[in-house]
Parts: sequence; C-alpha cells; structure tokens
Amino acid sequence: ASPRVVVIGGGYAGATAAKYLRMWSAGRIEVVVIEPKPSFISCPLSNLVLGGSKTLADLTFGYDGLQQHGIQLVQDTVTAIDPLARKLQLTRGELPYDKLVIAPGVDFIYDSLPVLDNAEAQQQVPHAWKAGPQTVLLQQQLAAMPDGGVFVMSVPKAPYRCPPGPYERVCQVASYFSQHKPKAKIIVLDANPEITSKKALFAKVWAELYAGMIDYRPNSQLTEVDVAAREVKTEFETVSADVLNIIPPQRAGKVAQLVGAANVDKRWCEVDFLSYASKVVPDTYIIGDSVSAALPKSAHMATSQARVCASAILATLAGQEPDPQPVFANTCYSFVNARMAMHVAHVYRYDLDKKIMLPAEGGGVSVQPSEQEGQYAYAWAQNIWSDVLT
Ligand code: FAD
Repeated sequence: ASPRVVVIGGGYAGATAAKYLRMWSAGRIEVVVIEPKPSFISCPLSNLVLGGSKTLADLTFGYDGLQQHGIQLVQDTVTAIDPLARKLQLTRGELPYDKLVIAPGVDFIYDSLPVLDNAEAQQQVPHAWKAGPQTVLLQQQLAAMPDGGVFVMSVPKAPYRCPPGPYERVCQVASYFSQHKPKAKIIVLDANPEITSKKALFAKVWAELYAGMIDYRPNSQLTEVDVAAREVKTEFETVSADVLNIIPPQRAGKVAQLVGAANVDKRWCEVDFLSYASKVVPDTYIIGDSVSAALPKSAHMATSQARVCASAILATLAGQEPDPQPVFANTCYSFVNARMAMHVAHVYRYDLDKKIMLPAEGGGVSVQPSEQEGQYAYAWAQNIWSDVLT
C-alpha cells in the first residue's frame, strides 16, 4: 500500500505541504488533510477588511483545487495523537498514518487575562487575529463607533503571528477613520519596547499620513481587562476604549501542545530545519506558525517551510537524505491605506554550524510606501493563493 501522510490543518502551511507531497510524488503518496473549517480564509489582507477596501468574501476560497490533486480532505478536528501507534483521534473516529505533519497555526494564551478566555468576552473584545467572523465583528464595531471615539489596540510581546500585522492594522483603521470618522483617535498599547517590524517606516507613515490620530505607547503590557466597560489597565495607567481590540499572546496550536511537540518554553515546537521533523515526537513534522521563534511567523514563511518539509518527507520515505542546505525567501508587505504598501524581504539559508535558518545579509526594506508596491502586494497575494490552493 502507498504510505499515508496525514496533515493536521489546511491553512497556509498544511495546504502547501499537502499539495507538494502529492505533486512531487506523482500521486504515489496518500495525503489526507484534517481541517475543521469548510473553506480557507486568508489572514494576509484581512486588515484591509477593517480599512474598508476588502470584504471577507474576497479572502475566502474553496478547497476544491486541493481535491483535484487527489488530496483527501476530512472536515474534522484532531483531538489526540498517539505517536507510538501512529494514530490520530478525530471527533468522528481514528485515523492511522505513516508520517504526520502538524500545521495548526497559533493558539491564544489567556493565562494573564482569563476574563477573555470565552466566546462571549471575545464578542465584546475581539482579537481578529484569525481571519473570519472575528474580523467582521471588529469591522462592525469600528463602523458603529461614534466620530470622536477611541479605538484601543493591544499588541502582545513578540514572538507572535505576523510581526508587522498589528502596525498594518493601525494604518488600516487610521485610513478608515480619516475617511469616515476624522475626530476618532487610536491608542496602541504595545507590550514590546518598540515597534517590532519596519519601525521607521510605520513611525513615518503615522506621522505623515495620519498626523495627530495615533498615540503609540510602548512597554504597555495589559494587567487587567474590564470587558463590559471596555477598559484596560497597564502597570502605569487605565485606558478606556469605545472599541477594544486585544491581540493575545500566542503559542503553537493546541494539538501540538497535546502531543508534547511544543517543547520550547511550552510554547513553540523545536524542529530539525532540514526536514521540520519534531525534535521530540517520532514520525512527526511541524510547519508554519507553530515552529520555534527562530523564524518569523508569516504565511510566506509557512509555505517556504512546507515545501522543504514535503521534499524531506519524500526523501525519507525513499530512504534518502533531505537537501542538506535549504534556501528560501520571505516577503512581508504591509498596506498603509487601500492602495499603498511597503515591504520587508529576506533570503534565509541553512547555517551548517548553528543548524538553523539565518537571514542572508542585505535583506531589503522599502524606502517608503508606494502605489507600485501596493500593486506588488496584491500580486503577492494572488500568487500565494494560487500556489497554496490550486
Ligand atoms: P493557519 O494559516 O492559521 O492554518 C492553521 C489551520 O489549522 C487552521 O485552518 C485551523 O483551522 C487548523 N487547525 C488547528 N487546529 C486543528 C486541529 N486540532 N485539527 C485540525 N485542524 C486544525 N503573513 C504574510 O506572509 N503576509 C501578510 O501580509 C500577513 N498578514 C497577516 C495579517 C493578519 C491580521 C494576521 C493575523 C496574520 C497575517 N499573516 C501574514 C500571518 C499568516 O496569516 C500566518 O503566518 C499563517 O497563516 C501561518 O500559517 P499556518 O498554516 O501555520 O496557520
């Protein structure tokens, strides 16, 4: 019988790995993807839903392209893994595998803010950090906010999914306010000591495009939240909001925690960067946002890792060694309004001594945002969707 690879999660990482496993094995490997959601919703570009230039429907895609590769899609959730018996528990039964790929994205940590750890609180105070109904909810709250109201966003300590994402969100909300609620204000409570990505560029955009609207407060870790009053406390102050968006701290998706794969600070998964094999769980590979903090957590990175992993699994199944020196790239665009974007890009190479992927010297960052880069950013999105899903 052909070997069976089961992929947990049909997001950026999992869908890409599944596609390349089927394509590069010319259909000789059985590939099963377990994903609870009926369709793929892109986090990249989801901040533009808040800005008003995209709808969630623009970012939602079917999985039929993957099925055309002969991938079996099972709409279910993995609830337990038995790595020694090589068997998964789904809500609807068991599934055996030869190799397992875990790609569940991130899980939120509510240890320090337990009041937010329920669906009702998240209706009042959305995170909108997994694109879907939460994105629409935040957009509706912004639309219902009075002109002159205050939008407060809290950024967790790094590492978290999409380093520039919170700051892109600030730009998008500011773009929406400038058009519809010019007296509104934005307060950014950042748990980090400074903007964690494209710092100079974001600071310049906020000062020039959105002068006087954005109040950025570093070292502002939340200590308390009053959900009903939409009020938060930090070590230094109490801040009230009309719309409150708390992006919680993050760790590897829950299923990685269940099987003990998240061995770094009980948060992230340590892998061999030549194959993405877990350092602790046999026959198991981990890709995407769940991988240790050594690599930035982006969709582009997730797909790059997925290809290296797929190639390594096929080599291993054929009794060969994986590519000893993988190279890949990562580009992250941020839209500053509906049309203009800016980027940061790096090539990553495997470092033989340190045994990790390191950014090569000379990575690029935009001089300033532009409409041309906005067009590149839309093309980037079209390309990655086509790569992942067709
Ligand atoms: P995901 O894409 O989240 O996929 C994980 C999947 O696993 C989900 O579909 C989930 O349902 C499934 N799953 C979880 N648990 C289970 C289980 N137990 N059983 C079965 N299935 C399960 N990146 C960029 O490169 N460029 C950008 O411009 C960009 N913008 C962003 C903007 C925002 C607002 C956000 C929040 C993120 C952005 N990102 C961007 C980051 C990007 O979305 C993530 O890095 C990427 O989605 C990671 O891919 P993943 O496959 O690890 O996780």
